[in-house]
Amino acid sequence: MVPLERGEAPAILVRKAADWTARYLERRKLDASARPLPSQYRHEGVLVELRRMNGNKCSYCERLLAEPEQEVDHHVEVAECPERAFDWSNLYLSCAPCNSQKAPNRQVPVAACVDPCAPGVQPDAHLTFDDERIEARNASTHGRSTIQKYRLDWQDLDLARSKILNTFAFALDAIRQRQLVDGGRDLSDEEREILRAFATPARPFSLMMKLRLTRLSL
Ligand SMILES: [Zn+2]
Repeated sequence: MVPLERGEAPAILVRKAADWTARYLERRKLDASARPLPSQYRHEGVLVELRRMNGNKCSYCERLLAEPEQEVDHHVEVAECPERAFDWSNLYLSCAPCNSQKAPNRQVPVAACVDPCAPGVQPDAHLTFDDERIEARNASTHGRSTIQKYRLDWQDLDLARSKILNTFAFALDAIRQRQLVDGGRDLSDEEREILRAFATPARPFSLMMKLRLTRLSL
């Protein structure tokens, strides 16, 4: 998870959110299990703004997502807060597992978790990594709740993160071999940039890679 800066509400929501919300709340009076229409809350105009904010990554696990994999998550789910079904500040770009497997708000409230869109949020104050395994930093309760809510420690994510670590290790090893061949010279600026690129916010699992680079003094 990395800090995200939410832009202005998409034009489609500025125009339609109040009307869509009123109609949805009317439908719920007839059917309490009614869902908001995906064609509305995941309108292309909403997705475009979420992609601008997230760089095609899941807001929670930092998995890189092709467009068909991108879901729009209600940060506080509509079952608990239907009046926020089309509230821009409640819509987060997400992968399918983080969206569908997250613990409900009544069980693990978002207020007890790290919110990537909160102003001044510092996810690395609460989350750290032991290789590919995510952990709460210094037993942070917010860190623990975040891992629990979005299941950030499940094996699929461990596997995806270990693949990125392997790619990084391969690049680092190749560079170190070149350093040896060249008589043990320092890293060149270009080599340093190749390694640092792994931690840029647009790349998958960039928080994990930022911590890895810090440990390597890169
Ligand atoms: Zn995710």
